Amino acid sequence: MRCTIEKSRNETVEKIVSLAKRRGFVYQSSEIYGGLNGCWDYGPLGVELLRNIKDEWWKAMTYRDDIEGLDAAILMHPRVWEASGHVENFTDPMIDCKQCKARFRLDTLAELISDKNKEKALKEFNGVEGETLDDKFTALLEKPETAQQLLNLISCPQCGNKGTFTQPRKFNLMFKTFLGPVEDSNNVIYLRPETAQGIYVNFLNVANSSRQKLPFGIAQIGKAFRNEINTKNFLFRTREFEQMEMQYFVKPGTDKKYYDYWKEIRIQWFKSLGMTPSKLRFHDHPANKLAHYAKEATDIEYEFPFGWGEIEGIHNRTDYDLSRHQEYSGKSQQYYDDVTKEKYIPYIIETSAGASRSFMAFLIDAYYEEEVNGETRSVLRFHPKLAPIKAAILPLVNKDGMPEIARKIESELRPHFKIFYDDKGAIGRRYRRMDEAGTPYCITVDTQTLQDNTVTVRERDSMEQARVSIDKLVAYLREKLM
Ligand code: ATP
Repeated sequence: MRCTIEKSRNETVEKIVSLAKRRGFVYQSSEIYGGLNGCWDYGPLGVELLRNIKDEWWKAMTYRDDIEGLDAAILMHPRVWEASGHVENFTDPMIDCKQCKARFRLDTLAELISDKNKEKALKEFNGVEGETLDDKFTALLEKPETAQQLLNLISCPQCGNKGTFTQPRKFNLMFKTFLGPVEDSNNVIYLRPETAQGIYVNFLNVANSSRQKLPFGIAQIGKAFRNEINTKNFLFRTREFEQMEMQYFVKPGTDKKYYDYWKEIRIQWFKSLGMTPSKLRFHDHPANKLAHYAKEATDIEYEFPFGWGEIEGIHNRTDYDLSRHQEYSGKSQQYYDDVTKEKYIPYIIETSAGASRSFMAFLIDAYYEEEVNGETRSVLRFHPKLAPIKAAILPLVNKDGMPEIARKIESELRPHFKIFYDDKGAIGRRYRRMDEAGTPYCITVDTQTLQDNTVTVRERDSMEQARVSIDKLVAYLREKLM
């Protein structure tokens, strides 16, 4: 008898954070020194899951003839970030509490203030536009003439004091450092806040060396850094994270077609790796909220326990990026179309996914608690392609020749799959440990093995057991893990 246990929203995130630490998926960075806010370390299981996500993305995006891979440097010429608009525009509006020194992003303040306080403050204003309390609150904060008045009426979410906020200021999210030994303003460079610019500045290099013709794309996976004002929700908003970005260069006029094409391909990718379809949706950006470079934009959102959140952005960036790099570098970024004999700057369709944010979505989506015969089992139902460990090998007892057979199976499977050997504790407990790590198959060497050279293969989700001949194990698992 088994049934799924429903959990409250907060409980789920807390449980995931604690499971992630306990089982070695994710630890807080520099934990023994009290931790470093907004930075996380991936443990033995986490690094496998993250690598599997990135590998699946890499295969889906580059094992095709119209996309090339790239790995550009994290540090780039400072002019890149002037051309891209990041020096001027990559800012968040920020306020400080003068009393307790807490810092908040103005545009997300509504989430931190109670509805009662919002209602009270809103009474001081007439005819505010917006459907919900949050819409009205945010509309007032967006206008400098009403923002300060509203800020004077609300209490700091951290210390509870009223009227203690500073004026809103712009805060640039790029991390700065210095190139070389001299720390002066001439040597300032930035840690890249996105991987995309490394692709744009290499567009012609890749086009020429790979002899690709439009339309074609360049894909890259790499670290990005943003000095976020408020980090929160575990891996959702961190200061160091990984992106998986692909920029698709197309002839102007064909951009809409490829934008629609990539939207579908990308949402399908999440579904093909087992993410619950009803927890995925598009959020199209309305025309008045588009970024300065975008003609059309959508987010693929996942329904996290704390609400819907972006896991990937798909943007029609027009010829903005290459035109700006042409202007700032003085080097032509035009593409020569040798069929039509035209020269033009291509349009770009961008698919920009967070590897670490997707990691969190896959982890949360896979997590289930079930009651099985009166006991609770926690299970991570990862797609086999993402599971950190593919199979565990468990001798039923540590005698009667079972460990020797189990070790032999281990050495046969290791070259093919990520395997875990476990001979400690009762078999039921060992199964539970593997369920919690998301391991799709457990292979048990038992009494029958001694008679007929077969093993029990237990499947994680159904908990059904099959008997498989040892010499057919590699083929059996290979088929199941596809
Ligand atoms: P948000 O509005 O949530 O800050 P964004 O619109 O700035 O995100 P993009 O610049 O489009 O995000 O970045 C593309 C992807 O990179 C996002 O969909 C997300 O998965 C990931 N990402 C962006 N910022 C962070 C962050 N601080 N921590 C983790 N992942 C991030």
